[in-house]
Amino acid sequence: MQVCLTFIQHSFTNLTTSLFTGKPDLFITMTCNPYWPEITRELLPGQLAEDRPDIVARVFKLKFDEFLKDITERHVFGRVQAVLWVIEFQKRQLPHAHILTILHPDDKPKTAQDIDRLVCAELPDPETEPDLFHIVTTTLLHGPCGVYNPNRACTKDNKCTRKYPRPFREETTLVEDGYPAYRRRDDGRQFINNNGFVFTNRHVVPHPKFVSFHSAPTPRLTVQNTANPCFDSSAI
Ligand SMILES: [Zn+2]
Repeated sequence: MQVCLTFIQHSFTNLTTSLFTGKPDLFITMTCNPYWPEITRELLPGQLAEDRPDIVARVFKLKFDEFLKDITERHVFGRVQAVLWVIEFQKRQLPHAHILTILHPDDKPKTAQDIDRLVCAELPDPETEPDLFHIVTTTLLHGPCGVYNPNRACTKDNKCTRKYPRPFREETTLVEDGYPAYRRRDDGRQFINNNGFVFTNRHVVPHPKFVSFHSAPTPRLTVQNTANPCFDSSAI
C-alpha cells in the first residue's frame, strides 16, 4: 500500500543520519481499528472487517493521509523537516504504519516538559475529555497480561515482555541512550473493563496529546531522546 520503504526497517538510523543529518524525534505507530464506523457500516450482515480487505485498506489510507497532514501541514508536533513511513499488513490483513518524524531543530523536544506536551501515558479525564477517554480506554490500554493472562502474545514466563504494567512515575525522566520514562502519576484514575480488570496509568500506551478527532487514528507515539538517540522497539 502506497510507499513501502521496507528497507528503512533495516537501516533506520543510518539512513536518516546520512540523508537528513539528524535523528528521528518521534516514532509513531498508527494501527487500523477494525471497529472504525467507516468500516463497520459498510459490512454486510455476518461479515467481519477481515472479510473486506478492500474497505479496510481504503479507510486506513484516508485516515493515514489525514494524519500525515496533521504532522506535515498542521504541525501538531511542531515544524517538520522530514517524515518517513512504512505500512505493513498483519495476519488478518489489518494495516499499520510506522512513522518516523524529524522535527525542525527549534521544535525538537529537549526537556521533560517538552515531551509532556507531545506524549501522554496517562488516562484522560473522562469528564473534560470524554472522547479521548473513550479512544484511550478502547484502544490504548495494555493488558491484562503476565500472570493475569499467561497466554497473551506479549507474555513469557508469566511476565510481560513489554514491561507492563509500568511503574508509577511522578515526572517524565529523560533517559540517556533511550526513550524517556514517561510520567504516570498515581492519581487514582482507573478504568474497569467488562471482566472487572482494573487499568490505571500503569497500563496506558504512550500516545499523542494532540490526537486529531476527525481522523482518530489511535496512534502510539514515542519521543526519542535526541541527545543520544537509539531504537528499541520494546520501549514502545
Ligand atoms: Zn503485556
